[in-house]
Amino acid sequence: MNAKIIDGNKIAEKIKQKIKTELEKLKAKLVLVAVQVGENPASKVYVKNQKSSCEEVGVIYNLVQLAENISEDSLISEVKKLGQNEKITGIILQMPLPPSINSRKIQMSIPEEKDVEGVTPANLGKLLYSDVQPVVAPCTALSVMECIKSTGENIKGKEAVIVGHSEIVGKPVMLMLLSSLLESATPTVCHIATKDLAGHTKRAELLIVAVGQAGLIKGNMLKEGAIVIDVGINRVGNKICGDVDFDEAIKVAGYITPVPGGVGAVTTAMLLKNLLGLYKTRIA
Ligand code: NAD
Repeated sequence: MNAKIIDGNKIAEKIKQKIKTELEKLKAKLVLVAVQVGENPASKVYVKNQKSSCEEVGVIYNLVQLAENISEDSLISEVKKLGQNEKITGIILQMPLPPSINSRKIQMSIPEEKDVEGVTPANLGKLLYSDVQPVVAPCTALSVMECIKSTGENIKGKEAVIVGHSEIVGKPVMLMLLSSLLESATPTVCHIATKDLAGHTKRAELLIVAVGQAGLIKGNMLKEGAIVIDVGINRVGNKICGDVDFDEAIKVAGYITPVPGGVGAVTTAMLLKNLLGLYKTRIA
């Protein structure tokens, strides 16, 4: 039997509708500011998506476009200025930044209370505590968790395998899967240096893949009935596809996220959820 499709668009719509209703009730004017340095075709697409999602729920979206040749110090002071602006609810730093700029330094200059992407050390650090509900967390990792939740399956004790150990997906997802003292899954994190990747993926009841290699995970690398969450976004010719060979995987998995229309669709909704969280913390 074919796997059930996890419909990211449907999940995102539900979340955005809830946010819109809450914002109307709060009569809140939230402002999201995106900082972009230079021109980048990929980040142009993100900006367009962020803007339209903000408009959908009634959030004001402002793009601050800075010159490609801006110095690191000037960029830090621009970000700090935005951080001090009372009218701004959250700040996004559009990646990639030019190679001459240390992205980590810029990220760290965003104040914790405006860190809508959940990437500052303080916000990432809160993910370690089982008794603290973080206000914000990396949006893609949150999106992965929403996709898993949408299946209605209990993850308690499940063998979970994460392929990819980035700061915005693999590592935070691992912490999120471990976030409850009693209900956690049992995660293994694989990466480029992992020996026998298939040996791990084959025993995964829950598989999360965030690598950036089209078709890395084949059908014969999956456990029958597994929940498969494909985070990868790869351009092959004029098509976008994930890291999992969808046509093969759908015959083996129990649930699967498509690409596009899976994790990516939910990510922007989680950005808005983070923004609302920042706002509510400020007015509390
Ligand atoms: P990254 O690019 O920072 O790192 C890649 C990871 O894959 C590393 O942990 C590396 O060790 C691992 N890796 C590389 N080759 C491997 C192999 N052969 N076997 C096992 N592991 C291997 O990761 P990222 O920023 O999390 O991005 C991963 C993918 O997710 C990309 O395709 C990116 O476009 C996509 N992405 C999607 C969203 C979304 O919203 N859907 C958001 C962020 C990233």
